[in-house]
Amino acid sequence: MIPVTKSYLPEKSNYIRYIERCYQNNQLTNNGPLAQELKERLEKYLGVRNLLLVANGTLALQVAYRALGVTGKAITTPFSFPATSSSLKWEGIEPIYADIDADSLNLCPQKTRVAIEPGVTAIVPVHVYGNPCDVEVFDQIANEYNLKVIYDAAHAFGVKLNNKSVLQWGDAATLSFHATKVFHTVEGGAIIFKKKEDYERACSIINFGYDNGEVVGVGINAKMSEFHAAMGLCMLDEIDMVLQKRKEVYNRYYEAFDGHIEMPVWKIGATRNYAYFPVIFPSKSALLKTQEHLNEAEIFPRRYFYPSLDTLGYGRSEQETLISRSKASRVLCIPMYPTLPLDVQEQIISTMISSWDAGVEGMPAELKEKGLIEG
Ligand SMILES: *Cc1c(COP(=O)(O)O)cnc(C)c1O
Repeated sequence: MIPVTKSYLPEKSNYIRYIERCYQNNQLTNNGPLAQELKERLEKYLGVRNLLLVANGTLALQVAYRALGVTGKAITTPFSFPATSSSLKWEGIEPIYADIDADSLNLCPQKTRVAIEPGVTAIVPVHVYGNPCDVEVFDQIANEYNLKVIYDAAHAFGVKLNNKSVLQWGDAATLSFHATKVFHTVEGGAIIFKKKEDYERACSIINFGYDNGEVVGVGINAKMSEFHAAMGLCMLDEIDMVLQKRKEVYNRYYEAFDGHIEMPVWKIGATRNYAYFPVIFPSKSALLKTQEHLNEAEIFPRRYFYPSLDTLGYGRSEQETLISRSKASRVLCIPMYPTLPLDVQEQIISTMISSWDAGVEGMPAELKEKGLIEG
């Protein structure tokens, strides 16, 4: 069975070395030495300041909304993982959907502008598949209407835009360190705040509202434990190799499909972290046919992101979100992880190409002639 993704497990002996430190310190959580070290190393590696570690990427969003005082309604994208919307709803904020851009699949700034109405206090875009949004335009709109911008950057670990971390954009950007993500701590996440005072407010929020031993407001428990931080430190030791391997897998797919498949158009000036390999099919039936062939060969890609979130019923859209619905019905993420063996990848590619060769409407039938990738 070939899954869409496989969690990366760093070298066990290194993990044990970090765990030994937890035993020596006898401190298991509450911003211990390993969490402090991970914060510092991540800030340096990513090129950011005011990074707050939290227990997962969903809490990262919820805490960011709280720390920034987001209430009422927020404009967000229907093309994402459910947590982007459900975190708003959970915080009592009404998600209002604006449609996505047909090229990037990210929230469209122009449609966001049109969707602004009384009660809207924030915009929550997503850097989908790690592809940066039109951050400059969102910045402008936010200034004009006095709105907060929180980027769900769960996919954008390490991505740079014009040589600077994309996480520097917005009042806050949130990361997920879930086991399936490019960089992980088993479960975990982080928030990068633009302003130190927001970061400090969030420090208190994730620790029951405590500030210098006194409860100063309503808080929650969203702390990262030392054992999770240990996994993060190991991952960080190996992250350059992990990204290099992902890049190799990505490039092999890219060359095999030889420009014949549709993919999201990448932001100019942005780097990639090779988190996903999304293929946009010309029709839902072409997707389903290809998926069926892959499943028969025990290969399990994932319809990521499907369905369009506006169909789930916990948000509202004044505008039609036709682009999101159309793309969501036609996009398939194929297996993509750093330890994907070459022969398995060849099998995935040949299964896809031979299924198109046998006739899938709109898919290239000529790829077989070219011969597959050379090992
Ligand atoms: C993974 C993910 C999340 C949620 O992160 P968790 O750490 O699993 O809670 C939120 N948004 C997006 C876009 C994601 O892909």
